[in-house]
Amino acid sequence: MTPGRPVPPPLGRTITPEASPSFAGSLLAAAYGATSPESGLVPLTVSRRAPKEDDVEIAIEFCGLCHSDVHATRGEWRIPPYPLVPGHEIVGRITRVGSAVQDFAPGDRVGVGCMVDSCRECDSCLEGLEQYCERGNVGTYGAKDPRNGDAVTQGGYSSSVVVDRRFVLRIPEGLDPAAAAPLLCAGITTYSPLRYFDVEEGDAVGVVGLGGLGHMAVKIAKAMGADVTVFTTSAAKFEAARELGAHHVVLSTDSEAMEAANRSIDVIIDTVAAPHDLNPYFKTLRLDGALFQLGLPAEEMPPVSPGLLIRRRLAYAGSLIGGIAETQEMLDFCAAHSVASDIEIVGADQLNQAYDRMVAGDVKYRFVLDTSTLQEPSERADA
Ligand code: ZN
Ligand code: ZN
Repeated sequence: MTPGRPVPPPLGRTITPEASPSFAGSLLAAAYGATSPESGLVPLTVSRRAPKEDDVEIAIEFCGLCHSDVHATRGEWRIPPYPLVPGHEIVGRITRVGSAVQDFAPGDRVGVGCMVDSCRECDSCLEGLEQYCERGNVGTYGAKDPRNGDAVTQGGYSSSVVVDRRFVLRIPEGLDPAAAAPLLCAGITTYSPLRYFDVEEGDAVGVVGLGGLGHMAVKIAKAMGADVTVFTTSAAKFEAARELGAHHVVLSTDSEAMEAANRSIDVIIDTVAAPHDLNPYFKTLRLDGALFQLGLPAEEMPPVSPGLLIRRRLAYAGSLIGGIAETQEMLDFCAAHSVASDIEIVGADQLNQAYDRMVAGDVKYRFVLDTSTLQEPSERADA
């Protein structure tokens, strides 16, 4: 890694087995990342570890831009190790596999989501719930990787990545690779609580917030056969919600409309990351309903009234991404139901502008970086 210096690899360099003859040597990869909370995203060169026997080397084609990437690179949750290359919605083609890898081969289209390892032996890991690893999963970027000398992981705004096969997902051929990238975070984050609640045909699902996560929740719940209600603070989003497949849209600032939705919903997927009052949403739930909060506000939330939870035996729950097996199940489900993210593809030189637009809520619904633009940022005219 060359911190702070915009030195991309030589132009036209592609990371292929031919270009990197020694399997023992580490690789340099083109990347974009932050060097400080104020730096914005700048061109960087990252060093990827020499693939080990269980490793898969991936030439990255696309990487989704998640709101977490903005918080992380700007140091809004904590000050991360800089330089930091974000990106945990990675799709690409395998270029090499280690000697012990049997289930993947060069040329396969694969994905990597929010984690690249875990302890593999705690109760959570043994149950296939690696995201809840008791020792903490190894995040795709900004995390110390104990199996790699505690080197800090670097994410997918990059030309290549090397990941243990156990944390590599298969992208079904029927899915558009760019539109599939956001499934690896936004998709699984909404799929997992819907599956945990056992949503099936005829269940009523509420979705609060219509951003990257919310739009996936609508599509996936609908594909599961649910009757979907979107709650939004903006009447301007009614049409968009219906276009995504929502059966009902409720303006959450309209107390009469909220009252009319009383006891109409079985499970709510709340994707809003800003502090907001949940009590009006609990009132829309039926007996034994549940509200899953997926957004992590930086400030305190208004208190939840226990009376409502008690009188209707409601559950107030959280949920974090999904395990590897469940993520594969989600990808296969999305392929079978033709579900993918609505995306806008951007080049590397548009990343900073894209971040500003994400913060302003000006994207329908996910930006995806085309990594083929990483190496010649100055040549792009549409910045
Ligand atoms: Zn994410
Ligand atoms: Zn574990």
